[in-house]
Parts: sequence; structure tokens; C-alpha cells
Amino acid sequence: MCPKYRFNDTGSGIVSQFGTEARVLAEMVRSGAPTRAELAQRLGLSKASLSRATAGLLSRGFIHESGLVVSGGPGRRTSALAVRPDLGYILGGDIEGMGVRACLIDCTKTVVASTDRPVGAEWSMDRIVCTWIEAIEEVLAGSGVPARKVIGLGVGLPGLVSRDSVRFHAYLPPGRWVDVAVGSALGSFGLPISAANNVICVSEYERRLGLARGHGSFIALLVRYGIGAAVYAHGELIVGEQSFTGELGHMRLDPHGPRCICGGKGCLDVFASGRTLPPEDARSGDIWDGQLVERARWLGVGLANLLKVYHPPLVILNGIYNAYAGGMGPALEAALGDELTPLGIDVPELVFGSPVVLKADVGAALRAADAFAEPYFEALLVDGHDAE
Ligand SMILES: [Zn+2]
Repeated sequence: MCPKYRFNDTGSGIVSQFGTEARVLAEMVRSGAPTRAELAQRLGLSKASLSRATAGLLSRGFIHESGLVVSGGPGRRTSALAVRPDLGYILGGDIEGMGVRACLIDCTKTVVASTDRPVGAEWSMDRIVCTWIEAIEEVLAGSGVPARKVIGLGVGLPGLVSRDSVRFHAYLPPGRWVDVAVGSALGSFGLPISAANNVICVSEYERRLGLARGHGSFIALLVRYGIGAAVYAHGELIVGEQSFTGELGHMRLDPHGPRCICGGKGCLDVFASGRTLPPEDARSGDIWDGQLVERARWLGVGLANLLKVYHPPLVILNGIYNAYAGGMGPALEAALGDELTPLGIDVPELVFGSPVVLKADVGAALRAADAFAEPYFEALLVDGHDAE
């Protein structure tokens, strides 16, 4: 028998000797599950299969006993396992109308290198994309991590993101709609790529590492250049059959209001987006306080319209208003109350995400790890590398 293969538990066929070990590693990276019992349950493996896999991974030094003792079930304490941080790395990047960013995370989801570059309102689309590619190159080069140890590249994109190629349709500086294919530019890294709308990436960060941990149902808002929303129900992101839309910013609130970038009138975007934010030096004092309350009112009406249809117990807000949570929060809550209370609908818990600039990038990288970690680890095991 080929030494790389063995018969599986039932003897009904052959499976890669390393397939189970790769699955275990990928699950440890994905969920951070620390115990053999939890890993076996998550992967649907028998205790014997899981023990064989962890023994193999321990002998190679791919995982180690972390030294922590955690609950292993009623009345049991068990030693926790941890994946070696430098076993592989994942690149994350995001592009939007106010900036481009990139980061590199290790197998424990720790950011080991990052960059954040502002984007000029007068910049051409080519210049924005080139700056982004340079930022990703800079992060990789600055980290000292060899390209062969990078599992994949996850990217967060604005607007409507194509599912079958890395392209998006969005409104970006210098003031026009763009239809941009970034697949060929990103292809220069020679990595597998996963792409999603930025608000999905940020909400993945919150779900896995942030304020939505342990919550199956919530709404995540991202207000940056535009306004996006992602809706989760019972642990699943709600996506239409064709594509993710999430364009909360173009919910029309006043049919006779100011003209929006989409061509319509009175969208939420014209009242509350980052695109329409006053310059930074004008964001203090009484006039700004009044503007903030007005913006909160519009955002509250838009969010309440969504909550009238679907009402999870938690709403997480990220983006430009997190720096002004003290003024925005109470006004937003009051606006939600005005809209929802007469209908007998409770105002959900409203929280502002912690100020992590790289949320979209880390979330994009986590999505890429979900997609590409298992084949990466299997190749690593088959090649017999010790990952040094
Ligand atoms: Zn619009």
C-alpha cells in the first residue's frame, strides 16, 4: 500500500493519511476549538480517529499542548491543544472610498503585519488599486514571511461583489460609479483568493472575534464611505440566491430629498454616509453636535425599517460613528424607539464595535482561511515539510 494512504475506519475506501490531520488543523484555525472532545464533535470524528490525528500532529510539532486546563464536559478537566502560530499565514485586504488596507494574520488570528493608507478624493481608480496592491506587497515583504507559507488572500470590496470573479460595482472617488475587476491585479500574488463585500468581512470579524461571539442572530452595520448592512439569523448570513446586496445606504427615506449618487432622491446615504461627512476639523462644537443628532435620526429611521421586517436582539455598528458613539448612541436609540415602540417592537441592544481599523481585513482573511486552510495543510503534510 502506498505509504501516503491507508484504509479508512470502515475499510470501504482509501483516504489520505493526512486528510483527517488537515481537517483538524483547519478546524483549530477556524474555530479555535481547544479540546479533543470539541474537535471530534465539530468534525464528526470518533475519539479514536481524532486521537490518531492529534497524535500525528503533536509528533510533527504542528500543534502542542497549550498548558491550559479547560472544561472537557461535566466534571471533567482536560488539557487544551493549540495550533502552532507560524504553521501558515493568511493575507487580508480591503478597498473602499476612504482608504485601502492590508494585514497578515497567523494561525492564531494574530495580526503580525499591517498597513492602512488613505485614498485621495481626486485619485483615479487605477491609482487606488495600485496603492492597494502595493500595500499588500508591503505587508508581506515587511513581515518576513516567505510567500510559500501564505495560505491565501481574502479581500473585502465595496458595493456589489461578483460571486464568480473578483470584481465589484461601486461608487468611489473621483465621483463616479466604477465597475472594477481586481482579479488579475491580485493574481500576481499567486494565491487562492476569496472576496466578499466589506460589511460581510467586518461582520465576520464581529461574529468570530468581536461583539457578536455567541450570538446567532444580529444585524451588522458598516458606515464608511457608504452604508452597508449584513443580517445573520440563527448563525447564518442571510444571502439572496443570486448575490449579496446589503445596500442599506440606498434605502429611500425621502422621495423629494437631495439627489443621491445612485441617481435616486433622498436615500439614507445622502443623510448619513461617510461620503457626506463634514471635514474632520468641522466635527466638534454645537453645530457638529446638531448634525450628529440629525444623522442619527436618519440612520435610526433606516435601521428601524429593516428591524420592522427582521428583529434580532443585537445590532452592531462599525465605521465612522464609532469615534462619536457618545453623541450618536443615545440619539440613534431614541430614533429607534420613536419608530419601533408604537408598533410594540422592542429596541434591540445597540453596540458600537471596538475601534479596530483592520476589521474588514481580518474578517476577509478569516474567510480565506475557511476556504483554503485545509488543502494548504494537507499539501504541507503530504510534502513532509516541517513548516520551518
Ligand atoms: Zn442612493
